[in-house]
Amino acid sequence: MEKILIATNNPGKAREYKKIFEPRRLEVYTLADLKEVPEIVEDGQTFEQNATIKAQTLTDMLNVPALADDSGIVVDALDGAPGIYSARYAGDHDDQANNAKLLAELKDVPYEKRTAHFHCSIVVTRPGKEPLAVAGDAYGYILTKAQGTGGFGYDPLFYYPKLDKTFGELSAEEKNKISHRGLAVQKLMEQFDQWWQV
Ligand code: IMP
Repeated sequence: MEKILIATNNPGKAREYKKIFEPRRLEVYTLADLKEVPEIVEDGQTFEQNATIKAQTLTDMLNVPALADDSGIVVDALDGAPGIYSARYAGDHDDQANNAKLLAELKDVPYEKRTAHFHCSIVVTRPGKEPLAVAGDAYGYILTKAQGTGGFGYDPLFYYPKLDKTFGELSAEEKNKISHRGLAVQKLMEQFDQWWQV
């Protein structure tokens, strides 16, 4: 069976991608399965550039198909910050510190100016081929305090008007249908088979 390397160490992400690729008879493995992980310098300026760097580096160094994603939250009143730096806004993958910093930065910003969106770019690469890039966005507002305990990262601060709930108040299934990652994955499924075959 052919295989695709997912550029993550996160078992939750690996499970999600298995659901997509296993019905397509593609075995999923991750960085956790490699004896030695190539060094990847994520120095892109956009989500798509960073996802492309991650996937293409793995494809070039190991000569295998690869997939990488990159996501974060873009806050309009902060000129797009934290953006590609979302995971390390205040502390490295420290959700509480990141959320506290976001609230502090927006302290004097009124509700109607607290617009934001989550973005997710997914890029797949294969030896000798052009990459396939897809993306998804979810639009909402940053509240002044956390609401809900579900999800992760900035979810409890992100109010999604269409469902009148924060992402922290959605079940995983509800979130998947409308989230930036869910929408990007839907686009990937629409385009992947044709890209893989040519
Ligand atoms: P990654 O690219 O998937 O590692 O995500 C980068 C960072 O963006 C995460 O560490 C979170 O801070 C933030 N982020 C991305 N997606 C979400 C989400 O669905 N909910 C909340 N935070 C997210």
